Amino acid sequence: MSVFGSRARGRVERACHYLPVVVNTLLVLSITGEVSYLVLVEAPREPEQKAGEWSAVWKAAHLLLQYFMLGNITWNASLFLKTSPSIRGVFLGGDGVGQGWRYCYTCETHTPPRCSHCYDCNVCVLRRDHHCVFFGQCVGFRNYRYFLSCLLFMWAGLLYAVVMNAEVFIVILKEGVTLHSVMLLMVPWIMLVSGQVTARAFAFAFIADTCVVGFLLVAAFLFFHIALMLRGQTTREWYSSRRPYSLGPLANVKECLGQRWYLCWLCPLIPSPLPGDGIHFRVTGSLEPASSTVSQ
Ligand SMILES: [Zn+2]
Ligand SMILES: [Zn+2]
Repeated sequence: MSVFGSRARGRVERACHYLPVVVNTLLVLSITGEVSYLVLVEAPREPEQKAGEWSAVWKAAHLLLQYFMLGNITWNASLFLKTSPSIRGVFLGGDGVGQGWRYCYTCETHTPPRCSHCYDCNVCVLRRDHHCVFFGQCVGFRNYRYFLSCLLFMWAGLLYAVVMNAEVFIVILKEGVTLHSVMLLMVPWIMLVSGQVTARAFAFAFIADTCVVGFLLVAAFLFFHIALMLRGQTTREWYSSRRPYSLGPLANVKECLGQRWYLCWLCPLIPSPLPGDGIHFRVTGSLEPASSTVSQ
């Protein structure tokens, strides 16, 4: 009975681990499919606008841009998942144990500065930033570039999708700001279940809503991480006002994206070796908190 229970729990845990990746993939593919449909079939949407119909070259340019962004999102995401940021298989060196090094009782080893243990991945991660629940993997020294590039193209793709879906909002609100149109935009699921709208109207409203919400979320994440990168901090270090590992904005960017930082975001295949090893870091400030001063 207990064996059956532990097996079932193992399966549920595995399903929960992969569920966010599956849901994200479905959402990205649905949004891409919808904007491709808008370009190929619905541009322009109104029959009286036929004179201004998009040319084949313009449609091809849109499709090319869409699939360039989709390719970058999926490629960066798969390289992010394939590139383990953990200490497994990394020679940490016994002689480097010094300031900033800690002992991890779970991994039973000394770990370098900026490394910390992830209880979801169950391993210590080099220059650990955070555990990404959307990918089910930690963001660390070796896969930060792919994480940031994926975020950048998700932001650009969602911005494009929001602009393309402006037409959908216009069509829905054409009848005026009625209870029906507001409900369709705010709670499309309820309108579908209650039989108030067709599945087609629901699909367009749902995807348009997802694009707006997704864009705001991804924009917040992206700009937060760009600010952290420029400051030479990880998400865990952001809580502290001290920036002992900051080497200046440009050097901080190189530390995260590598030598070809200005080019590597265009394609994940462009090699951009990282200047450090994720174990040793140049320290430019005090690692210890400043001693608190008693106010007079
Ligand atoms: Zn550990
Ligand atoms: Zn983790």
